[in-house]
Amino acid sequence: MKYVILVLTILLVSCSGYEDSRIDPSFQPEIEESDLHKDGEVETLFANNSKGVNIVIMGDGFVRNDLQINGAYEQEVKEQIDFLFTIPPFKGREQFFNVHIVYTESQETGVDGFNDTTYDTALDLRLSENNFFNAPRAIVFVNDEEVVYKYAERAVPARENIHLIMIVSKGSFINGAANGIMAIASENNLETMVHEVGHALGGLADEYFFEENRDENYDASFVNNLDNTNDLTAIKWNYIAAHPNYSDFVGAYEGGGYVPNNVWRPEQESLMKGGWRFFNTPSREQIVKRIHEINELPYSFEDDFINNDEFVRSSKQGTSKLYLPLQGCVSTKK
Ligand SMILES: [Zn+2]
Repeated sequence: MKYVILVLTILLVSCSGYEDSRIDPSFQPEIEESDLHKDGEVETLFANNSKGVNIVIMGDGFVRNDLQINGAYEQEVKEQIDFLFTIPPFKGREQFFNVHIVYTESQETGVDGFNDTTYDTALDLRLSENNFFNAPRAIVFVNDEEVVYKYAERAVPARENIHLIMIVSKGSFINGAANGIMAIASENNLETMVHEVGHALGGLADEYFFEENRDENYDASFVNNLDNTNDLTAIKWNYIAAHPNYSDFVGAYEGGGYVPNNVWRPEQESLMKGGWRFFNTPSREQIVKRIHEINELPYSFEDDFINNDEFVRSSKQGTSKLYLPLQGCVSTKK
């Protein structure tokens, strides 16, 4: 007993009075390998359907410490997926999807071109100054798609079966972009990521516009959420505008595709315009059609869309005061 008390006394003495000078606040204990996700590791969040839409989500610029189990990387990508599936028409359609995380380990946090610096990151994203509609904008791009596919194919080995790659960029301080099937956004930028998914999976166009582009034209013939006519009997979404569920708010609102004139969008607000957490009705339908196409399922407007569509009426839409053009966002379709 005396021995135990002696040991406790020594411990108490040795633990008191030294803490301020002996603890280095920047010191981080070495993390055990077993507490880390490995570079290239796959975690499947849900695998619902062998013919389903295969999503692979990855991070870039996340360093070793971020790869802790339940750490920054894991939490960020799971938050992105959770948010995506709160947005109609993804909401409630999880059964049509398979979602995989692939972990990547970067040596540095950042994106090439930021501060004129090159960063050693796993997916090698880069910022590029583009003179986009008369204004220089820094847009994030995939430097080398092969690098990205090499990681994505760890989850979905046949490249043609990868339908959407979501990339979260840490430390890039940009909004986002879509390169083909790749949707890119910086961390915590949940709405921007869904907007980029609208490009990358739905083939949707940007609906925001800049008043100064009065002399520019936008050819809407290749997209389903903009049209160059405002004739509601001829417009692409005429059957939606005529439907009693939607007729009081789906119409023709001028401006979209970066230009304010001679192009019309279907509703006042939409995620493809920015600042709003809803896709407009033709955009939701386009995404549902794409989901059915990939799943090789027949599609019916009545049975597969209207009967389980969640929408916001125009009286609730107004014109968003939070409207922020998604500057730097651009879609490059293959
Ligand atoms: Zn966009």
